[in-house]
Amino acid sequence: MTKYAVAPMELPAVAVADSDEVFPVRRIYCVGRNYAEHAREMGSDPDRDPPFFFMKPNNTIIADGADFPYPSMSENVHYEMELVVAIGTGGKNIPQAKANDHIFGYACGLDMTRRDLQIGMREKGRPWEIGKALDDSAPCADIQPASKIGHPATGDIWLKVNGKMKQNGSTEKLIFGIKQIVSFVSEYMTLLPGDVIMTGTPPGVGGGMKPPQWLNAGDVVELGVEGLGEQRQEVVAWSRD
Ligand code: MN
Repeated sequence: MTKYAVAPMELPAVAVADSDEVFPVRRIYCVGRNYAEHAREMGSDPDRDPPFFFMKPNNTIIADGADFPYPSMSENVHYEMELVVAIGTGGKNIPQAKANDHIFGYACGLDMTRRDLQIGMREKGRPWEIGKALDDSAPCADIQPASKIGHPATGDIWLKVNGKMKQNGSTEKLIFGIKQIVSFVSEYMTLLPGDVIMTGTPPGVGGGMKPPQWLNAGDVVELGVEGLGEQRQEVVAWSRD
């Protein structure tokens, strides 16, 4: 029996909708600037700067309904609501025409961001981890298996804070579509079962650096993707513990 020098991590997992199974999360890939209007609100030109990828650790996943603790070290925390793709079958150099064969299912999710730190790092040309890989920064709703719901073509994608609509778009506006994303990532890294891909956020994340839009402890964030259900997270005060 393996003797671990320190306690091994518990495998992060997301519930599979209407089943007693959970989906074990291996890695979290995130697509940046995958909706043109969001790229523009963040000060980029989507025609000049194509989408790109970054990652979050798998233990940043939290369940639908779990509290999101306001993170330390930031005064400008943004929500980014995203369609999440869960990979069921691994592969490399996956052609777009075969991408669906590798997808286990889909979910709503959030890419929680310390925007002040992310932009600070971006301006210095440094990695984004302190802005993006924060604790609990990947809330993810139950996964809807493609075996039950198929592969949704396009759908409305929305987010409300305290009942007020903040993001209201459609996955029709993805610059890189889902098949293209799966194919693209698999050309750089071998995709593996349990990988999840957050496909990017539509506009309305907070208007850049304007303070009235920032999240605060006590805020309730609700979101949904057409055909995939809804999700709710409450922001709670940060604690040193
Ligand atoms: Mn994002």
